[in-house]
Amino acid sequence: MQQTVQIQALKADITTLKVDVIVNAANSSLLGGGGVDGAIHRAAGPELLEACRQLGGCPTGEARLTKGFRLPAKYVIHTVGPVWRGGSQGEAALLASCYRNSLKLADERHCRSIAVPSISTGAYGYPVEQAAAIATQTVREALADASGIDEVLFCCFSDYDLEVYQKALARG
Ligand code: ADP
Repeated sequence: MQQTVQIQALKADITTLKVDVIVNAANSSLLGGGGVDGAIHRAAGPELLEACRQLGGCPTGEARLTKGFRLPAKYVIHTVGPVWRGGSQGEAALLASCYRNSLKLADERHCRSIAVPSISTGAYGYPVEQAAAIATQTVREALADASGIDEVLFCCFSDYDLEVYQKALARG
């Protein structure tokens, strides 16, 4: 029997969320950066960087899993979003594959709750309205193949982003 999945947007610091897994908008080296990546590494502690080093990087659009170490979340999925280059360089497909691969990995690890940030819309410059439409649509589609997941949180970091994600979710 298909269970109802709770999908919602909220405004929060993703490092504080007590979910099975949080997603990190990393860069392809996986060796830390600014924005949400920096916040996650600070909160998880130095063991996270050590674990990331073992992974040897991650191509854009793919995802890799580590433990959450000092975070309340059990795991971190590191995914690498595309840099916005105007929209004609395959950005949308790459962004969608970040969400799809992250959900797949979470489900394979038997995670039931997952929080995702607004991938690529910070330093990587992806327009948030377009990114939110892709994020919400891709997650909805991917959930059909990720039957163990029952809660998805779109973790926004500003009031504006929260409004954009809530509108994208409402459009269904
Ligand atoms: P990218 O390089 O993929 O654009 P950024 O980390 O620069 O990644 O930004 C992605 C999103 O994460 C932005 O909306 C940014 O405001 C947000 N963000 C930054 N810090 C946090 C945090 N602690 N929790 C949740 N979201 C955050």
